[in-house]
Amino acid sequence: MSDTPVISLPVLPLRDIVVFPHMIVPLFVGREKSIKALEAVMAEDKQIILVTQKEAALEDPDASGLYGMGTIGTILQLLKLPDGAVKVLVEGGERVALNTDALQNENDYLVVEAEIAEQFGDLGAETAALSRATTQQFEQYIKLNKKIASEVLNAVEQIDEADKIADMIASHLAVKISEKQELLENLDIHARLERVFGYMEGEIGALQVEKRVRNRVKRQMEKTQREYYLNEQMKAIQKELGENEDGVNELDEIETQLKAAKMPKAALEKGEAELKKLRNMGPMSAEATVVRNYLEWILALPWRKSSRLKKDIDAARAVLDADHYGLDKVKDRIVEFLAVQQRTKTMKGPILCLVGPPGVGKTSLGKSIAKATGRNYVRMALGGVRDEAEIRGHRRTYIGSMPGKVLQGMKKAGTKNPLFLLDEVDKLGADWRGDPTSALLEVLDPAQNNSFQDHYLEVDFDLSNVMFITTANTLNMPQPLMDRMEIIRLSGYTEDEKLEIAKRHLVSKQVKDHGLKDGELVISDEALRDVIRLYTREAGVRNLEREIAKIARKTVTAIVAGKATSVTVTAENLDDYLGVKRFRFGEVEDQDQIGVTTGLAWTEVGGELLNIEAVKVPGKGKVTATGKLGDVMKESIQAAEFFIKSRAQSYGIDLEELAKHDVHVHVPEGATPKDGPSAGVGMATSIISAISGIEVRRDVAMTGEITLRGRVLPIGGLKEKLLAAQRGGLTTVLIPKDNEKDLADIPDNVKSALKIVPVAMVDEALSAALVREPVPFAISGLPDMVTESGPTVAEAGENSGDIVAH
Ligand code: ADP
Repeated sequence: MSDTPVISLPVLPLRDIVVFPHMIVPLFVGREKSIKALEAVMAEDKQIILVTQKEAALEDPDASGLYGMGTIGTILQLLKLPDGAVKVLVEGGERVALNTDALQNENDYLVVEAEIAEQFGDLGAETAALSRATTQQFEQYIKLNKKIASEVLNAVEQIDEADKIADMIASHLAVKISEKQELLENLDIHARLERVFGYMEGEIGALQVEKRVRNRVKRQMEKTQREYYLNEQMKAIQKELGENEDGVNELDEIETQLKAAKMPKAALEKGEAELKKLRNMGPMSAEATVVRNYLEWILALPWRKSSRLKKDIDAARAVLDADHYGLDKVKDRIVEFLAVQQRTKTMKGPILCLVGPPGVGKTSLGKSIAKATGRNYVRMALGGVRDEAEIRGHRRTYIGSMPGKVLQGMKKAGTKNPLFLLDEVDKLGADWRGDPTSALLEVLDPAQNNSFQDHYLEVDFDLSNVMFITTANTLNMPQPLMDRMEIIRLSGYTEDEKLEIAKRHLVSKQVKDHGLKDGELVISDEALRDVIRLYTREAGVRNLEREIAKIARKTVTAIVAGKATSVTVTAENLDDYLGVKRFRFGEVEDQDQIGVTTGLAWTEVGGELLNIEAVKVPGKGKVTATGKLGDVMKESIQAAEFFIKSRAQSYGIDLEELAKHDVHVHVPEGATPKDGPSAGVGMATSIISAISGIEVRRDVAMTGEITLRGRVLPIGGLKEKLLAAQRGGLTTVLIPKDNEKDLADIPDNVKSALKIVPVAMVDEALSAALVREPVPFAISGLPDMVTESGPTVAEAGENSGDIVAH
């Protein structure tokens, strides 16, 4: 110890504060010992040693529990509190080093010996600069640390002495007690100042980071708060605007509807998730519109609703009979189909496919079946559908996406068990955008269609209760599709059938559609027959219906204009209503002609007459086709040519003479496709007629493919062709012998109206078609042979080596 005087004073141990010199601090004193010490000094010079405990929790610290340095404190004020504790205001004075060894417990309080600890240090310019810097630093520190009152800065700024600055600031630093104590014990003023500066710098860094973080958090908070506030405001505005009479918000309404729709769990969950999304979106945003659309779709689909099916088969038959005339076999098959379906109670059977020319009632039969079974009816046209997405929909990521046609149809149907008519399956296309056939197959496949996937909807839809029926003009469709179908053919109507259909259905329908009353329009049977013969030429009755509609229109106009009260249309005044006759009934030429044959063709729109013409002109012995004939027809012509040349002799053809001529075969342009093998017989007949100069009978029509050996092969579409022949007014039809069995399906009135001649060989066709038999040609220089083999054409045929097996 130095020679500074030793003083002995009571001690006030401090738990959590270090009192620096010149500081005035209030202290609450509760410990009995301390209170006693205070009381003792109050009686004397009011001086007490303020020293900090090493551990704040220590209740009764002894020498080892106290730090070795404190300050001499002067009590400025003492206040006894009602609970016995004491509040004192003390001012720190000189630093004192305690001689803790000489700590005594005197009169129940601690007394210690201590001596003043002198500070030291070179207080030159450097320290002055440091004190300035420290003061400035403190200013910064105060700005960041809001806990320190700004007056403290004023006080610090008033101070000049470096040690005071250091102590003052040190007392305000937010550092640990042990660190503060270190500052107190540091007697080197410059070093202490540096230390204070250092602490502040560290603190400022930390505070700055804290401030940055706080600011960021604050900004974020502000943003969310702002958004929340605006959202709430918007909701309030919406509520004002969008509330309906019941005060139910639109979104809540959607929620109720979702719950009421009784959709499967997956769909409901999806719907609710989308609704949740929608609730958090600005209602006017583009995305909200997309979600809203989606919800509308999901709500519009018939998840549960189904119509009550009619089980009565007889009643079903009655409905079909009432709606359609004729078609007995077709109706039988439909009724059988319905019966089986009812027994098996599933849709697992094949899909009905109604195949036939336009206007024969395929679509309207579909509608009737719906009526007969109590199902709702929807129709989807497949003509021109080339994209898978048209069936299965586009994903919602596409702008303006929608579910595919299947689900659109289901929405329209409104029930989950409608009759779904897929029109024109044979017109389904396919290209790079994907093959719609596979999607359609999935729709039609009972094993898969209970979980039909639409790209837009994203959740499965059950199509297994839907009755699908398809229609087509031809069987020209992908094999897998065909395999799923049960084909029912509707081949077209005879003239009599058309007349009956017109009388029973078409006229009354048009009368009704045009708002005419009973008796205001009467069309005589003769007039109707003339409409059928002279104004239409078709397998079905579509144009017939159109012509009748035209008459109805004119009638309405006349009645409305007051020119008539009722109209009766007869064969005589028919052209007043329909104008100039469009067709000639009976295409039969006026006279038998050389080289002109009537063939019969099958087309998508029914049977057609095919004019085949051949002429012989000077040339080089070639048979050529003019015009754009299809390859198959050209092959038929070649087959006919080789056959004829191989049999020239029996047909009286001089090959030398023929070598100086060409034969041109021509099929005039018409509505008919100029291709197909069944014109073979007609070609051969025309060519032989042209070469031999023998006329073809004008009332004969023929059909059949030929072989090089002259056999006539069977053809398809016999009924349509016979109907066409009858329509055209021909009386005799040559058909391939192998088609004879198909005659069972032909209506009796057609069979009785036509003379049907089955032919197995071209020779037979020629005998029936040419006005006279060709005379076999006598080859010069071989007279004997001619006389031997000349008499019969048939024998000549056998001799010429035709060894086609029968
Ligand atoms: P498709 O679908 O075969 O082209 P539609 O079903 O459109 O033919 O028939 C055309 C019109 O002819 C419809 O008005 C339909 O009611 C009528 N129709 C066709 N066949 C008959 C029939 N056998 N009996 C009554 N009306 C018929």
